[in-house]
Amino acid sequence: MIDLISDTVTRPSQAMRAAMAAAPVGDDQYGEDPSVRALEEKSAALLGKERGLFFPSGTMTNQAALKVLTRPGDDVLIANEAHLVWHEGGAAAVNSGVQFTTIGERGVFDERDVKAACKKRGHAFIPGTTLVVIENTHNRFGGRIFPHNKAQSVLSAAKELKLATYLDGARLFNVFAATGLALSTLAEGFDLVGISLSKGLGCPVGSVLCGSKAAIEDAKLARRRFGGAMRQSGILAAAGIYALDHNMERLQLDHRHAALIGDALDGAPGIVFDRSTVETNIVTFDLNERAVDAQTLANAVAKKGVRIAVFGPRRVRMAAHLDVTEEQCRFAGQVMREALDSLNTH
Ligand SMILES: *Cc1c(COP(=O)(O)O)cnc(C)c1O
Repeated sequence: MIDLISDTVTRPSQAMRAAMAAAPVGDDQYGEDPSVRALEEKSAALLGKERGLFFPSGTMTNQAALKVLTRPGDDVLIANEAHLVWHEGGAAAVNSGVQFTTIGERGVFDERDVKAACKKRGHAFIPGTTLVVIENTHNRFGGRIFPHNKAQSVLSAAKELKLATYLDGARLFNVFAATGLALSTLAEGFDLVGISLSKGLGCPVGSVLCGSKAAIEDAKLARRRFGGAMRQSGILAAAGIYALDHNMERLQLDHRHAALIGDALDGAPGIVFDRSTVETNIVTFDLNERAVDAQTLANAVAKKGVRIAVFGPRRVRMAAHLDVTEEQCRFAGQVMREALDSLNTH
């Protein structure tokens, strides 16, 4: 099976497993795991932040950031269909008691959107906005890159309005691979930045939250409260160090592979698909009202050995990653095209 359901399906390579097996470890709750410390320092340095903090998942990283940067009852500005809004089981309401106001178009917004949506604090009944979140790349909108100039305009509006800023950079490495902008440039100006090691970088587990010394101290307490403080987690951190050293540069390959799938789908019948939206490793499209639904399409291509994600009744997603080759992606594109051609002409 050519598994394109997500870039999280990768399995650790032999070399990554060897690095994990060889990792020096200690009890991280006593600050004594050298591998965790090394990963945290390496991540912080890459992002140009003072400190890093290792987390078991990107969801917990996001939740800790919300916990640190908001108070219950606050309003948070964020793109529609963000991971925090759609993929975390309502955790923002459960853990931090915040509400979301979604802004922008297809994952992207700018200064004007922030200013228009920001609600002043101290009002008798309107919930004050205290945080703005950017997701880069945006998962549900197909690995879309948040344009750097727009991110800068959002940051300057946030500064003016005294809003905290969080970058959900689960796939920030893909932005680096696609644009060549340094991770530190992409992270600059954000109070906290979360990065994921278990997506395109191919680790079995792990995310890192980076920010100032003070913000990371607060996040450490939030992590403990969420039950995510670990012990000899250096075994996992070693995978992260290996991935940062070996799997970052190759992400461009995933982008080329996703582009091949995009090329095959371009102009296919029954779909609403803009080829130019394939900017990184993800391909998404909607099936129009005359076409079959997403599950029917997924079932049809599964019979040919291609697994895709059903992301909504009429939306599918495919993600290229380090466990699929160029050949497999070409084949997957062909299978998808043939399925659309035959399902939508009968
Ligand atoms: C995958 C993802 C996360 C983190 O998810 P986990 O599965 O908890 O590691 C966070 N944000 C975005 C945008 C993601 O795609």
